Amino acid sequence: PRGSEGDCRGVAVAIRRIVLLGEEVLRVRGEEVTTFDSELNSLVQDMLETMYHAEGIGLAAPQIGVSLRVCVLDLGVKEGSEAGHWVLVNPMVAKTSKKTVKAPEGCLSIPEIEEVVTRFSKVTVSATDASGRPLEIEAEGLLARALQHEIDHLDGVLFIDQVSPLKRRLALRKWKKSQEESLDE
Ligand code: ZN
Repeated sequence: PRGSEGDCRGVAVAIRRIVLLGEEVLRVRGEEVTTFDSELNSLVQDMLETMYHAEGIGLAAPQIGVSLRVCVLDLGVKEGSEAGHWVLVNPMVAKTSKKTVKAPEGCLSIPEIEEVVTRFSKVTVSATDASGRPLEIEAEGLLARALQHEIDHLDGVLFIDQVSPLKRRLALRKWKKSQEESLDE
């Protein structure tokens, strides 16, 4: 067995490959989770491990090639809080503020690209945890933004879809270039 931290329940935890822009699974609507079993639990553990390894603050299942409505978040380091991580299964935005706020955003599936995206400043998200227990999060600030970003992933929506066509074109051009350069290396 591996000596990984997440290995406490005898489940092998793996860092999974992060799917990149251009791969189909990022563009389809994830399926609702209906079975809360050890398979779901091991998916969640892999997602957390993958997110921490990539130093992201959020990760949605489609980003590791699994078309299910599951996402994980942990702002811990960035916000200096010790809130720990969130595991959200079948999350949905139940309520939004009228107020919106603009801030730069990035995505593990589109590395090196950052764009200013307008999001609701506050959201209420309802979901369940990995055991199927209902939970509700009232969020503002970075957590509200991250939740909207991750829930978008579950609908096949990426943050670059939320910017103007011109900015999107420029971002995609930059993305293509960075991809070609990484192939050259
Ligand atoms: Zn993302």
